[in-house]
Amino acid sequence: MANVVIVGAGYAGMLTATGLDRMGEPFTLINKNPYHYLTTLLHEAAGGRGDPMNYTVPIRQLLKKPSSRFVQDEVVKLDRDRRTVVGRHGEYPFDWLVVGVGWVPEYFGIPGLAEHSLVLRDIDTAIQIREHIEAQFASYLQDPNPSRLRIVIGGAGLTGIELLGELVDWIPELCTKYGVRRDEVTLLNIEAMPTILPQVSPELRDVAARTLTEKGAQLRTNTKIVQVTEGVVHLDGGEQVHAATIIWTGGVRAHPLLSEAGFTVDRRGRAKVDAYLRSVDDERVFVGGDAAWFEDEAGKPLPPTAQVATQMGHCLAENVSSAVHGHALKPFRASLKGTLASLGREVGVGNIGKLALKGAVASLAKEATKVKYLWELGGLRLTADKTGELVHIT
Ligand code: NAD
Repeated sequence: MANVVIVGAGYAGMLTATGLDRMGEPFTLINKNPYHYLTTLLHEAAGGRGDPMNYTVPIRQLLKKPSSRFVQDEVVKLDRDRRTVVGRHGEYPFDWLVVGVGWVPEYFGIPGLAEHSLVLRDIDTAIQIREHIEAQFASYLQDPNPSRLRIVIGGAGLTGIELLGELVDWIPELCTKYGVRRDEVTLLNIEAMPTILPQVSPELRDVAARTLTEKGAQLRTNTKIVQVTEGVVHLDGGEQVHAATIIWTGGVRAHPLLSEAGFTVDRRGRAKVDAYLRSVDDERVFVGGDAAWFEDEAGKPLPPTAQVATQMGHCLAENVSSAVHGHALKPFRASLKGTLASLGREVGVGNIGKLALKGAVASLAKEATKVKYLWELGGLRLTADKTGELVHIT
């Protein structure tokens, strides 16, 4: 029997696993945590909305067949010569490998940034941001240092803006809870480029900027973070911003496991794959999601988004099964539907096809993408459970 190993239970890896599970194709899925999480909603988990574990799904709940095996382990090496995945707790030989290890923060070599900033990368870091911010409010009355209530987010891409939107809605609640005046709190986003949110159309960027500033956030564009020391963000031009909370959302790169294993990678560490999502260096290794460097027909690399990773996951399940049985593989075709960004709990902006959405409609459209994804992942029961529509009868 062929030994199929999947590393990583992000969008690409998890959908490969659930696809193979449905087909009854045996595999071993290895993941650091016992759960899969909804990466596109991490800003909600960081920004005080509900229980962060609501954004997770136990992996074992998603795998139904006895032939599907899940191992909780952290992979530290892909040993290509021995065709073995090396984890902290064991080794896993493979005939076919799917790598969906996702991303790590890109610090661009900025001094002090990695040491002195928080990142929004997974459930643990979302909880860390949330607890850190709340701790600053909780201790402010005993130690009313203004920098305690200053929050700086570096980078105005989708991650930075969605997190900013979430925090700007959470701050009034924290002010009430801890007896702090709203005008004592500063929420500042710093972006090196001339505009925020380059992924949406210019008029929607203006809507986003207006929405966020009206709620009390400050946006500074054309401003580059050049260094971070403890509690201080250093800007080009020499200005210093003192802030107890510094969050870096300035970019991502693929997990280093692939470059360390000697795969051909791009400048962001993503492994180059062929039309079927196989590594160009090894036909028995498939790569999906943010770790894959896939070029469309025009030669343009696909962006590292959940939308692409989800579509890759479906294709990977089919292609791995075909590879195991010696059938022809299917070329991957991405269908990019557009981009949606939430701007807090009730409104958002986004371009879907030719439509430019804003306000509650964009927020609802984003909610619909969550429902669609949950449906793909776990059908009616999971969708109802995670959207709060399931009543448990004992
Ligand atoms: P990003 O690379 O898209 O944005 C980072 C931003 O930080 C850029 O605008 C960049 O100019 C800025 N920046 C970089 N260095 C800086 C510096 N020194 N000082 C100030 N600003 C600096 O990163 P992201 O937002 O984390 O997104 C990563 C990927 O994930 C993207 O492909 C994005 O589309 C995707 N994503 C999608 C969604 C969604 O669809 N809702 C949400 C989050 C992320």
